Amino acid sequence: MPKIVSSSTISASAEFITGAEKALHVYYCHYCGEYVLIVDKRLHKLPRRRTDNASIISDKRTFKLNLKRGPTKIIKRAAGYERQSRWSCPRCDLPVAYDQDSGPVYIFDGAVHGGTSAQGPDESRRQVLGESKVEDHRPAQVQMTAEQLLREAERSRERSKR
Ligand SMILES: [Zn+2]
Repeated sequence: MPKIVSSSTISASAEFITGAEKALHVYYCHYCGEYVLIVDKRLHKLPRRRTDNASIISDKRTFKLNLKRGPTKIIKRAAGYERQSRWSCPRCDLPVAYDQDSGPVYIFDGAVHGGTSAQGPDESRRQVLGESKVEDHRPAQVQMTAEQLLREAERSRERSKR
């Protein structure tokens, strides 16, 4: 189990955090290593768009983007034009994802990698898409955010059970 940085805020539920952490996956910007996405299912297990091979994160997933709004682009497709509202990495500014004002979020193919994450090291290593040379993964910040997301995820899971 990874070391929990802000133990003061979650002391009552250490056991629950351990269980829920296994279900969450942290992804990093492929270019600079900034953490950009936490999602409850591995990207390679999510469906992809046929047009550009982007991973589809539907609103049924529990996820959190650490991205800022980028430009809106008009992309030409075989079937016509489509609007993409881009999400960019907060550190290096490169586009990581887009949406179409509503509906799912699409993660560009190859824009993120699994790297080190809040889950066990053995599991995460298997899903690394490429070797990352960036060491600054800001684990403390990721953990803080992951904890908040874990609580939200657990709460919505509880609700759906009833
Ligand atoms: Zn970046």
